[in-house]
Amino acid sequence: MGKKIGIDLGTANTLMYMGGKGIILRAPSVVAVESHSRKVVAVGGEAKRMIGKTPGSIIAYRPLKGGVIADFEVTSMMIHHFLRKIDAGGFFNRPSVIVCMPYGVTEVEKRAVEDATLEAGVKSVSLIEEPIAAAIGSGLRVSGSRGSMIVDIGGGTTEVAVVSLGGIVVSHSTKVAGDELDNAIIQYMREKYNVLIGEGTAEILKKRIGSVHPSVNRGALKVYGRNLRSGLGAELTVTSGEIREALSERVEQIIETIKDTLEDTPPELSADIYDFGIMMAGGGAMLGGLPLLISERTGIRVTVAKSPLESVCLGIGRVIESPGGIGSVLRQRTR
Ligand code: ADP
Ligand code: MG
Repeated sequence: MGKKIGIDLGTANTLMYMGGKGIILRAPSVVAVESHSRKVVAVGGEAKRMIGKTPGSIIAYRPLKGGVIADFEVTSMMIHHFLRKIDAGGFFNRPSVIVCMPYGVTEVEKRAVEDATLEAGVKSVSLIEEPIAAAIGSGLRVSGSRGSMIVDIGGGTTEVAVVSLGGIVVSHSTKVAGDELDNAIIQYMREKYNVLIGEGTAEILKKRIGSVHPSVNRGALKVYGRNLRSGLGAELTVTSGEIREALSERVEQIIETIKDTLEDTPPELSADIYDFGIMMAGGGAMLGGLPLLISERTGIRVTVAKSPLESVCLGIGRVIESPGGIGSVLRQRTR
């Protein structure tokens, strides 16, 4: 039996799973490249720390930002780098790989990622659809006839899907996800205080004191930015309530996407969803008060997956560890 590897190629984070071992890599999907030579300078966490701080000669890319593969060459370099890091290609026993990409990725982009993965020296590559992997990894049973709803809020996209009998019955997606929430915080601080804060600072505010429900108050946090009038550094004490105000419009769009999906769901499956609830995955599921707000607005119970950032990767892992069992959810290409 050859080695099996799973890759969750997320817009914000890439995770890798190795058969028999579990999750062996968690890294931001970021690549820093030297602009003249296109040489890779850093990948993952180190590259993420360079965003917004690089000198002119270095560009820190997020090649999958927005849920589409913006730069194929850089995506390919990133996959190669991660596979080398876990030493996947360097074995006599070449691994078979299962990859999960953002749901909105086109057929051409999918083939491109398959090619890049094959080029890294693996034996075969299969693709798995994101909502299916997220559902399996969140502990939902997808092969039965019961309908389940999975809401995966990542960095670049929010995917809402109803799955049943191992397939996707209805799905809707929006670009309103983690990155858009960060942008909303940046915009709010600029409009209210005339202060420009960085993307990293906005993300910290969202994670530490972010709340979208009035009953969830998470205090305040002091951050730094630049006053746009004076051009000088500025200190701001931001409250949880302000973050709620900043995010409210975007969060409404996420709720709309969930409601649209519910409206398009066949009645038999809606009944299941009303009975068994909505499952949330992806980093955005951890946003303060969001599960509660979604539950109030839809009238449906909401559960957050045990480790939402890992759901997709764990789902691929489940497929890897159960030979043949859930095999029908894949499409495969061999070298
Ligand atoms: P992707 O699958 O697109 O790579 P992830 O599922 O890894 O995305 O989620 C990344 C997103 O989740 C980022 O936008 C990040 O800011 C957000 N996130 C992570 N932790 C939290 C948290 N505690 N609260 C709110 N958002 C969070
Ligand atoms: Mg994801």
